[in-house]
Amino acid sequence: MIQEVVLIDDHVNVTLVLPFPNAPLKKKLFALIREEVAKVDGQLVVQINVNQMEPKQRTSFMTRIRGKEPAIAMKNIYQVIAVMSGKGGVGKSTVAGLLAVMLQREGQEVGVLDADITGPSIPKMFGVSQPPISDTKGILPVKSRTGIKLMSINLLLADEAVPVIWRGPLISRAIEQFWRDISWGVLDYLIVDLPPGTSDAALTVAQMLPVRGFVVVTSPQELAGMVVCKAANMATQLGIPLIGLVENMSHVRCPNCGAEIKVFGPSQAEATARQIGTRLLGHIPLDSELAILCDNGLIENYNNDEFTSITEKVAEMANTSQSLETLSTSGESEYTK
Ligand code: ADP
Repeated sequence: MIQEVVLIDDHVNVTLVLPFPNAPLKKKLFALIREEVAKVDGQLVVQINVNQMEPKQRTSFMTRIRGKEPAIAMKNIYQVIAVMSGKGGVGKSTVAGLLAVMLQREGQEVGVLDADITGPSIPKMFGVSQPPISDTKGILPVKSRTGIKLMSINLLLADEAVPVIWRGPLISRAIEQFWRDISWGVLDYLIVDLPPGTSDAALTVAQMLPVRGFVVVTSPQELAGMVVCKAANMATQLGIPLIGLVENMSHVRCPNCGAEIKVFGPSQAEATARQIGTRLLGHIPLDSELAILCDNGLIENYNNDEFTSITEKVAEMANTSQSLETLSTSGESEYTK
């Protein structure tokens, strides 16, 4: 990634070429460069300039550092991350949508596969309703305002209010087709919004897609129950690593004094994350602005520093091979039989 090092008197100018403008490890790389230069001479002043890789250079670089071709070579999809929750209404789809938005802001190619077939909410929060079109390569996902590629059953229904009353096998078939028959193109990340709980759909996704890991979403009210543990245990039994836990609606910020009000009492997220053997990625406040933006199809306008940091952690975990592998289990489980 180092393009050039120029030494003029006591100044070292280092030019880095990064795959994305805000590559997740950027800060770490800067610190490493400064550390190495200081080892040579502590008096040297370091100036770091950043360039961005050309698409071709980026593809070959990413293949090299990941030590593998895209997850499915034919599909050119590098990372599949599934978002799950123990029960509905905790903000799973919102977290899936925000992950896509933040990753895309970093300059990555992102898609969202809405596997919540009976409760699809992705198209609404992105404000898209037009049906997908096809070209010679197959069916093309619908693009959001900022270019995120989306696929959801709601985009295929003549009336989005019509319920999908299907049994498990049919739901699994639909997810399979969203994966197999959609021409996703090159994607750095495909975010999968799973239905809540431990349904057939989650099983289909885990078995059919090369899922890198699950992000588990909870809300404080849910934490007291067993539900989140059940969902997390399913992931473990399926041999899919947990990337981490996000606590949504954890607090409200007072609009007058900025104080954090813990509506549901003190957070138990840290303890729950430990209990399910993963890390806490962060807390998201209950924020009326977020709810209004989602209702109006404008999730891409949302800004939240805490969520940016959650996204950085997800990207870092997903791209660091050992840390996740140690958490995964393998072998046939009750679920896969
Ligand atoms: P799930 O996918 O778990 O069923 P959703 O993501 O659809 O839940 O969220 C349920 C509702 O709660 C949506 O209307 C969404 O806009 C709202 N919501 C989710 N998270 C927040 C939040 N942090 N602040 C305010 N509203 C939220």
